[in-house]
Amino acid sequence: MTDRDPRIGTGSDSHRLEPGDGIRLGGVFVPCRFRAVAHSDGDTLLHALADALLGAIGDGDIGDLFPPTAENRNRASADFVREALRRVTAAGRRVGNVDVVIRLEEPKLGPFKDRIRGSLAELLAIDRTRVGVKAKTAEGTGPVGRSELVECEVAALVL
Ligand code: MG
Repeated sequence: MTDRDPRIGTGSDSHRLEPGDGIRLGGVFVPCRFRAVAHSDGDTLLHALADALLGAIGDGDIGDLFPPTAENRNRASADFVREALRRVTAAGRRVGNVDVVIRLEEPKLGPFKDRIRGSLAELLAIDRTRVGVKAKTAEGTGPVGRSELVECEVAALVL
């Protein structure tokens, strides 16, 4: 082992859903009958991604970097990822790949997965072959299955 060994980070996030006109996932607006309840723009996937990147370099979480203050209200979640990426770069590292699981009962994300993948690749400045996006339902059970919650998990490898 050296200090140049690869590092892995994981992040997860969830937001409650309420009636609305759509939710943001990975920087992509998904029209539907819900919106995410959040202090920021509620992009659950970008929050989990930022935490995965920070985790890989042992640098806390987005709550440390962006506390829920007035100035962070409605902040674009891409800012969280950009700051996490800046810290990865400052640590002399780069993102190897990220792998994402989204848990949402509806709408079905099949038509959006490729756009989400492209959006994440662009945000992270990596090739889209280094981004995996999977969408799952909860088969009608639990808070996700009742469309009360959207959940995301991200694993990130940092080289
Ligand atoms: Mg969040």
